[in-house]
Amino acid sequence: TRTPVNVTVTGAAGQIGYALLFRIASGHLLGPDVPVNLRLLEIPQGLKAAEGTAMELDDCAFPLLRGIEITDDANKAFAGANVALLVGARPRTKGMERGDLLSANGGIFKPQGKAINDNAADDIKVLVVGNPANTNALIAQAAAPDVPAERFTAMTRLDHNRAISQLAAKTGAAVSDIKKLTIWGNHSATQYPDIFHAEVAGKNAAELVNDEAWLADTFIPTVAKRGAAIIEARGASSAASAANAAIDHVHTWVNGTAAGDWTSMGIPSDGSYGVPEGIISSFPVTTKDGKYEIVQGLDINEFSRARIDASVKELTEERDAVRELGLI
Ligand code: NDP
Repeated sequence: TRTPVNVTVTGAAGQIGYALLFRIASGHLLGPDVPVNLRLLEIPQGLKAAEGTAMELDDCAFPLLRGIEITDDANKAFAGANVALLVGARPRTKGMERGDLLSANGGIFKPQGKAINDNAADDIKVLVVGNPANTNALIAQAAAPDVPAERFTAMTRLDHNRAISQLAAKTGAAVSDIKKLTIWGNHSATQYPDIFHAEVAGKNAAELVNDEAWLADTFIPTVAKRGAAIIEARGASSAASAANAAIDHVHTWVNGTAAGDWTSMGIPSDGSYGVPEGIISSFPVTTKDGKYEIVQGLDINEFSRARIDASVKELTEERDAVRELGLI
């Protein structure tokens, strides 16, 4: 029998946590034969609700769930962690400036990065979901000098999945026929969903659609503003699809991309495609044996270049701001 994998979830009592934990425990994160121990990190006010969720997890009698620990101590939560899902974050409230948001999140992600550095297992893989996800991941990564930088990633898989769904609807294809879609840049309104290398049932997606106005005025804004549209319709944020994307991100990282396809992940740039080294930006990646590689050699046309550059510029500004605040 396999040793259980230790999975730490922060913000476990939140909405995304509620949609996420049951799927981790039922085997969707790592695979149907991988037992897990859950470690739930919450702030003191969230502990009681986390205990309630843990009671429900018990009541599911999941065969793969070997244990649940709940704590408000990051050192305990990350002790021996193999996978960490950093979901809890400080939301932007009315009138809050970007600097305030970044420093509030620095107060969360810097100590968590240090706790990961000091306590996690050697094979730790980190996914940051809490926004601003890319820059929160950078803050945590900078606070963990003993962990290889590439283990810190940020979630753009929800944007990736949203873009696949929109492209499938436009072309009348099945989502499973869509391959090689890319999200570039920041998980924010500046993100760039790129269909120029995507395929729809083996045909080039951009050629098939052949409508740059639709791309610029419908597709890109629909993907980028989908979160707001869901809040408007549902009266609550897109927690279940965000949790689903977190599951997809880690599952793909651990288990690999299919031949002839790739996915999108926010990862520390190695300078590829002119993205400054070190910032955590979304790229097309293939994964194998628990490691990812940036897809190289793609032609970037003018339409794409301008949009990638704009999103990367926002990321470098966020990096400069957290540097100024002494957070990295
Ligand atoms: P959610 O669970 O709904 O969201 C958590 C984070 O995920 C937010 O930063 C949110 O960003 C982000 N997010 C990313 N993608 C999406 C998406 N598609 N839809 C919605 N959110 C998305 O927040 P709750 O307020 O319900 O729960 C947060 C929990 O975290 C609370 O229980 C709180 O106590 C806890 N917390 C724990 C901390 C810790 O463990 N140290 C620290 C801080 C909070 P956005 O704000 O942009 O929507």
